Amino acid sequence: MHNVTLIKGDGIGPSIMDAAVAVINASGAKINWLEAEAGMSAYEKTGNPLPDATMQSIDATRVAFKGPLTTMVGEGFRSINVELRKKYDLYANVRPAKSWPGVKTRYENVDIVIVRENTQGLYAGLEHFLTPQKDIAESLAVVTKDSSERIVEYAFKYAIDNGRNKVTVCHKANILKFTQGLFLNAAREVAKKYPQIEFDEKIIDAACMHMVMKPEQFDVVVTTNMFGDILSDLTAGLVGGLGLIPGANIGADAALFEAVHGSAPDIAGKNIANPTAVMMAGVMMLNHLGEHEAATRMLNAIEKVVNEGVYVTPDLNPNSSCGTKEMGQAIVDAMV
Ligand code: NAD
Repeated sequence: MHNVTLIKGDGIGPSIMDAAVAVINASGAKINWLEAEAGMSAYEKTGNPLPDATMQSIDATRVAFKGPLTTMVGEGFRSINVELRKKYDLYANVRPAKSWPGVKTRYENVDIVIVRENTQGLYAGLEHFLTPQKDIAESLAVVTKDSSERIVEYAFKYAIDNGRNKVTVCHKANILKFTQGLFLNAAREVAKKYPQIEFDEKIIDAACMHMVMKPEQFDVVVTTNMFGDILSDLTAGLVGGLGLIPGANIGADAALFEAVHGSAPDIAGKNIANPTAVMMAGVMMLNHLGEHEAATRMLNAIEKVVNEGVYVTPDLNPNSSCGTKEMGQAIVDAMV
């Protein structure tokens, strides 16, 4: 039995997480769910967006399955997602995007894994106003050699463990010569240790253009925090949208699994959010927990339902009137 902290989150969170938990329970994996609160819903109830009880739960379980959390734009409390990644040193954010045969897009055979440095860069949280009038602001990007080497090592090891052939580092070292230069140099050094894996480097803006024009030239991509955040939404667009892309946040002794997307306030409460992304995060979590058989069973059921395209939410099939709950039930029923 695995103890897992369950945070249902804000907006569409509770509905997609309920659907995902039902599918994980049906997969045969033995999970003891310990529910905890975070985000806007926790803030409204307790005045604290990250209550101590939630931290104590993750301190004990070291594994969390989390729905999206709302962060106000340009004001309010700091991102709880960023807090959690920093607190548990979840340095590797792994976001795989793969074409689904049953989901029609402009592209076929996209299979890209973004490996994003998850604790530093411009998201380190070092931001302040320089004047009392608040008319000049400064954000500092932090990049260290050790953390850069650690994430690039992770990307190469991931490539080897998952039978992949190539790692591309995406950077902006032509302009940001110190921070991005440090990251690029670390990538070049680490790449020398893995001659069996092809190594490529691309400047981030050109990388975006190449990814849209010829996504097949990318396999594993390693990059700094903000570029990875943005690139993974781009890859989501290549394969059918944000409702499909999971994310694993991995540290040396803790891990947190979630969707790449946010709390989608525009569709919250309508029972139309696609639960696939959090379910795919659930598959990553089961593999992390060593529950490989249950993970495969769950993945096969998700793929069957998504690729058939009938019991899917309207983002995948505009003619469908199937809701989040009904799609979840179809995946539970498809489990063999
Ligand atoms: P979003 O990802 O919530 O939504 C972007 C668009 O994608 C919306 O049109 C939404 O309806 C659609 N979408 C997202 N998930 C979907 C799903 N499962 N099924 C169908 N359509 C889906 O991004 P946003 O609107 O920019 O952000 C909303 C809030 O979420 C913000 O407060 C933001 O800070 C937060 N956020 C949280 C996380 C996280 O918890 N990891 C990640 C990103 C954004």
